[in-house]
Amino acid sequence: MTARVLDGKAVAAEITEALRPQIAALTAAGHPPGLAVILVGDDPASAVYVRLKSQRAHDLGMAHRQISLPATTSEAELLALVDELNADPAIDGILVQVPLPRGIDKDRVLDRVLPSKDVDGFHPVNTGRLWQRRAAFVPCTPAGVIELLKRTGVDLRGMDAVVIGRSNIVGKPMVALLEQMDCTVTLAHSRTRNLPEVVGRADVVIAAVGVLEMVKGAWIKPGAIVIDVGVNRRPDGKLGGDVEYGPAAERASWITPVPGGVGPMTIAMLMTNTVRAATQRG
Ligand code: NDP
Repeated sequence: MTARVLDGKAVAAEITEALRPQIAALTAAGHPPGLAVILVGDDPASAVYVRLKSQRAHDLGMAHRQISLPATTSEAELLALVDELNADPAIDGILVQVPLPRGIDKDRVLDRVLPSKDVDGFHPVNTGRLWQRRAAFVPCTPAGVIELLKRTGVDLRGMDAVVIGRSNIVGKPMVALLEQMDCTVTLAHSRTRNLPEVVGRADVVIAAVGVLEMVKGAWIKPGAIVIDVGVNRRPDGKLGGDVEYGPAAERASWITPVPGGVGPMTIAMLMTNTVRAATQRG
């Protein structure tokens, strides 16, 4: 079997284009959706992500503010900025790009963002609401994975899914979302015993590890759906995923490439969450 490719770039474009009428209506009512993106320090990858997010908000005609602060910024200064944006009626969504420089308590900063403006879905209130299946801002990357899974047209009910990686921003919310799709979910991590066997049982494999090609093609159950969240630098400087793409594509029914798979979906879901925040504003 050779897998069909899930084109994240195309799906992301479709999702963001579909937001335009809502953005136009909000703008006509005098209040375009407003997104503030905060970058602290000079991590080059973070700078690229922040630029892409602000650019997409700009392309869609949203009000957006990109705030770049030096690595020497204190936690108190950052918290004061978050407070200011929380109180700003023109801002519907606030995103604090992680990682933050050493000396700043990430949790304290992310917890300060109003849950109603938490378009990244990282606030514990939104995490709790997600697990209780109540309306919530869902973290953008796992939300984007779900959109890609829907595009396969495969009925996932009752399927065995494995998520590799248990971060708060990808792996754990991914488990909650797959459970909501009635999958039977296994969460694997660095202490998981016999990962090849665990992966080999899965109808759906989500790799969110951050180790180049650690999921071998030979582990994949024939016909499985493989979603690769990983973004890693290859020795030649190009980007590569967590999955050994060529051999995995020989066995899978569907697969996402890196780049061009999950990455563009993350930004599309951020735009979706921001428009939703604007629609729900009090
Ligand atoms: P984290 O570093 O926070 O988490 C990595 C997880 O992988 C941990 O739970 C860790 O286990 C697990 N892990 C590490 N090594 C192994 C191993 N050998 N076997 C099994 N599990 C292992 O990463 P993130 O969740 O933030 O990101 C994961 C990847 O996704 C990265 O490549 C990142 O760049 C990418 N990413 C991509 C996005 C996109 O838009 N495409 C957005 C966000 C992330 P343990 O908990 O036991 O340490």
